[in-house]
Amino acid sequence: MSATQPASTPAQEGMFGEFGGRFIPPHLIPVMDEIAEALERYRDDPEFNREYCHYLERYVGRPNPLYLCAKLTEKLGGAKIYVKREDLNHTGAHKINNTIGQALLARRLGKHRIIAETGAGQHGVATATACALFDMECIIYMGEIDCERQALNVFRMELLGAKVVPVTQGTRTLKDAVDVAIGDLVENYETTFYMLGSAVGPHPYPLMVRHFQSIIGQEARRQMLETEGRLPDYLVACVGGGSNAIGLFHPFFEDKEVRMIGVEPSGKGLDTDQHAATLTLGKPGVIHGYRCYLLADESGEPLPVHSVAAGLDYPGVGPEHSWYKDVGRAEYVAVTDKEALDAFVELSRAEGIIPAVESAHAIAHAIKLAPQLSKDQIILINLSGRGDKDVRQVAAMVERGEYKIQ
Ligand SMILES: *Cc1c(COP(=O)(O)O)cnc(C)c1O
Repeated sequence: MSATQPASTPAQEGMFGEFGGRFIPPHLIPVMDEIAEALERYRDDPEFNREYCHYLERYVGRPNPLYLCAKLTEKLGGAKIYVKREDLNHTGAHKINNTIGQALLARRLGKHRIIAETGAGQHGVATATACALFDMECIIYMGEIDCERQALNVFRMELLGAKVVPVTQGTRTLKDAVDVAIGDLVENYETTFYMLGSAVGPHPYPLMVRHFQSIIGQEARRQMLETEGRLPDYLVACVGGGSNAIGLFHPFFEDKEVRMIGVEPSGKGLDTDQHAATLTLGKPGVIHGYRCYLLADESGEPLPVHSVAAGLDYPGVGPEHSWYKDVGRAEYVAVTDKEALDAFVELSRAEGIIPAVESAHAIAHAIKLAPQLSKDQIILINLSGRGDKDVRQVAAMVERGEYKIQ
């Protein structure tokens, strides 16, 4: 699993340049140390990896295909477009790669009580799925407003046996759910494992999530070499917290000729206050226990953010992406709600694949990029999830006249 242990391992523990680290209460430091030690111990452990790969293969359905979008390629008339089909995973997105890995690690630590926070509910569902599979107690904190907005995901989690706790403090959304989950961990760390859903949080979470999501890039790299006999020119992935992007990018880190592009949501426009373009417009700051680019007000408080894609709606971003931006290893661009919705329709029509609106941000950028490139160049897009979860939302937007399908 982990053949590509990286040049990008932070020199100082948990730091990617000036980003990452641990900004947490002192009594949580031993908790994080325990997880870091377990990750160190098991990441190259043959028995652990055998078990992890078993579930990825038999339960998640890996390896998923690398698919050449021949019709979209022809229509755009430029570079060849491939998609890595994370949408075909069990539960319909990449998040399951990570929750299965963390559940196996929690089990090795003797922790059978799992807590997680969720905003849109996608990470909550992936966590509840892993807990059902491994017979673990599962408690999901979710802002009361998010519970109402995502009632169907609340039901899914409950169906899977999880207890969903509505968080009634503060803004009653994701940020408050994180606060309550951290409070739970402080009280119950001896029995409890906090499952984080993206490549964010205090050390070692960004490294751990990257480790489990790197399966995406490892497979894609191998599949591309098998199919084309060479590496792609561009990798393109959407960036919320950054886990699907770093999972694709990291195994290509040493391949200097492969350019990486992360795509953020510019929502209703970069000139409005309704976007979540953290790397494009943010400044270094601290959120949820780590340092990264951040959309914050003058006093450092995270700002409210917006994206049509609930999974990209986060004012921070993974520390490794923050560092990739500073050292120029990846570039980060932004795509509006409208451009993402157009790409959502375009991929559906051209290839018969309805993408998640999150993934549609990556597709939208590739649609702009491909015609500028020559026919012998290759773009590899991470199709992080399927769009079934989004069709009702898009249908309602069409009905209200907020979006028009061309
Ligand atoms: C959650 C989610 C994302 C955003 O999370 P990352 O950690 O940035 O990958 C992207 N796509 C889908 C389908 C998601 O569910």
